[in-house]
Amino acid sequence: MNFGYREVCLDHDTGPRHPESPDRLRAVRRALKDRHGVEYVAPNDVDMELVHGVHDADYVEEFREFCDDGGGNWDADTVAVEATWDAAVASAGLAVWAAETAMDGVSARDTPFALGRPPGHHAVYDDAMGFCFINNAAVAAQAALEADAERVAIFDWDVHHGNGTQDIFYDREDVFYASIHEDGLYPGTGAIDETGENDADGTNLNVKYQPGADTADYLAAIDEAIGPAIADYDPDLLVVSAGFDAHEHDPISRMRVTTEGYGAMTQRVRTLADDCGADLSFVLEGGYGLDTLSDSVTTVHEVFDGYEPMEPDDGVSEDARDVLDRVAAQGFGSK
Ligand SMILES: [Zn+2]
Repeated sequence: MNFGYREVCLDHDTGPRHPESPDRLRAVRRALKDRHGVEYVAPNDVDMELVHGVHDADYVEEFREFCDDGGGNWDADTVAVEATWDAAVASAGLAVWAAETAMDGVSARDTPFALGRPPGHHAVYDDAMGFCFINNAAVAAQAALEADAERVAIFDWDVHHGNGTQDIFYDREDVFYASIHEDGLYPGTGAIDETGENDADGTNLNVKYQPGADTADYLAAIDEAIGPAIADYDPDLLVVSAGFDAHEHDPISRMRVTTEGYGAMTQRVRTLADDCGADLSFVLEGGYGLDTLSDSVTTVHEVFDGYEPMEPDDGVSEDARDVLDRVAAQGFGSK
């Protein structure tokens, strides 16, 4: 894969005990070090006009001034230092680079993956929250739409609901948002009946699973609901909001996706993008076990380098079946 990466993303210092630490990127880079086919690119900062396409300009200015003044606690767990602004505009720039690179036809073994931080999917239109300041995936979608995409789909497999991405596009028909997330976790949004509003009704798909959902349940959500819905939507670009905190050994969730499972999900999204004729890019979100994060990102890379991941042996759990039936009742999916 082509990995977008900037050293300045390490300067967003969240303190000694914060799970969203610079060590996350260091661990991923270490794991990718001797892998075949890994390329790095260091693209420019995001164009602020794109940021203003998805965020309130006053909020963005407030965030910039907050950092200029030395930062601090924006809220209980969203912390910034002076360099956080530079890291955030670099991180958003990486996501834009990945989208634009994909739309330029870079694909297959060279598929772009933005390895930035701070992450983005909790950042709403006019506020930072959940470790996120600028919604990187949303800015990437906006960039694609301002280039020549008519429709963009974002698939968010981070274990948390991407409330920010949903918020930004909830009444917009030009972006389809789909998420699989764990019930009971931060930030509590992402109910199955949140399907978009006005003309955008039907462009927001939430699969809210009970704790304990495993790889088979995640793959079923893609096969039965998210894949068919995105294929119907027929996007020009598919952006994966790729968090790895649904991993069975991630310290902050109770989901049970395996490393191999992230490979199988990668296969699914690659096939889905191919079937839709959509370009494909990845943007890093969460993932807080350094080993599980780096192993999982490496597995995503390996799949694009020719590795064929194993499929799980087990079937869909009863809990997951119930959720997928409720998702289908909203008009999504094949079942
Ligand atoms: Zn997360």
